[in-house]
Order: sequence, then structure tokens, then C-alpha cells
Amino acid sequence: MNKVIFIGPPGSGKGTQASLLKENLDYFLLSTGDLLREEMKNDTNLGKEIKHYINNGLFVPDEIITDFIIDYIEKNELHKKKVVFDGFPRRIAQAKALEEQLVKYKRDIDCVIMIDLSDDDIIKRLSGRKSCPSCKAVYPADKSNDICDKCKTALIKRADDNVNTIKKRIKIYNKETFPLIEYYKNKYKIFKIDGRENIENTHSRIMEIVSNNE
Ligand code: AMP
Repeated sequence: MNKVIFIGPPGSGKGTQASLLKENLDYFLLSTGDLLREEMKNDTNLGKEIKHYINNGLFVPDEIITDFIIDYIEKNELHKKKVVFDGFPRRIAQAKALEEQLVKYKRDIDCVIMIDLSDDDIIKRLSGRKSCPSCKAVYPADKSNDICDKCKTALIKRADDNVNTIKKRIKIYNKETFPLIEYYKNKYKIFKIDGRENIENTHSRIMEIVSNNE
């Protein structure tokens, strides 16, 4: 399996699962949210332009995000690599732009993994989570300390992980990203996963899917 797309509402664990796939099966991880947050941290022109959208739980407009990601794919020659896409595409227009980019190199998406979670579970999970600004690891609210287990950096709470912004992100996900699943159903193999499962079980299920579809 060469190009895998993860889709899921905020807090479904898709970022964590995409990182595990990177660690265990040597995938290149394209995490759109992490790349954008890095731009904000470095206060680049793009970072300044997108800050308002991200901190308010809004999508970065297609023209900005698509140019940025397609350029990133091109620079890193991702058409040649095994890639897990986390957070891109999030809209049908973005999916079409990605397809066009891959077709240029006679490549295609191999499968789509969708992690599902109810609105209540999303709010419960996100409103307390903490993340590592350095290695990007994510931890649940009940973690006993605020230090990253992997790299010992002090953990932070994401600016967009507050209840109002989370509700906005869920609404936008349902309106903008959910139709993408219908679009992909007609094109690729799509696997639906229950996001309530713990990290290990979900990872095993994903490994099974990816291995069985090599
Ligand atoms: P994430 O870390 O994947 O939850 O992304 C954090 C935020 O980055 C989102 O809430 C959006 O504001 C922005 N973002 C990430 N990916 C995209 C995308 N494909 N299209 C538009 N905005 C995006």
C-alpha cells in the first residue's frame, strides 16, 4: 500500500494513528495541521495569514492550503514514497487537486481509512488533551504530568482545543469533510474504524488493513 488517506473528525485519533503507521511501517507522514502549526510558530508569511483561521477552528481557504500542500508534495517527491495523508484532503476540491498531482506521476490513492467518533466523545476527548510542541505526541487529559514521555518537552494545550472552537470544528467537519467520504466511496477502498477503541486496538486494525491490502 503506497498512498493512504486518513479521514476523521477532530479528536478521532487520526493523527496518532498516522504517526504509528509512520513509526511501524516506515510511511512518510504528511500531517497538514502540524505543518501549518510549524508555519505559525516560525511566524512566516503563511503562518501569519492562517493563524486567524486555525485558532478559530475554521478551514484555511482551499487556494492557500492546496498550493502549500501540492508544493510540499512536489518538493519532497512524495509521489515516489509510501505516504500517509493526515488532514489533507478535507474537502472534495482538495481531493481533486491531490488526484491531479498524483496522476502527473501516474500514481493514485490506494485506500482511505475513516475513523469515526460521536460529537460527545470528540468534545470529551479534545477539551482536555495536551500535545507536545516538539515531537507532536498527543496525550489525554488525565495524563499525570505535563511533560512529554517521548522527548521530555513541556506539553501545551492547542489554542483550538476549547469547547466553542471544538464545536465549530465538528460542524465544519460534518459540512465540508463528510461529503468527501461519499466521494471516495465511489473511487477507492474505504475502511471505517470505530474511534472509541483504544490506541493499540485501533493501530492493530489499521496494520491489518494496510497489510491485507498490500
Ligand atoms: P488538525 O491538526 O488536522 O486538526 O488541523 C488543525 C487546523 O488546521 C484545522 O482545524 C484547520 O484550521 C487547519 N487545516 C488543517 N488541514 C486543513 C485542510 N486540509 N484544509 C483546510 N484547513 C486545514
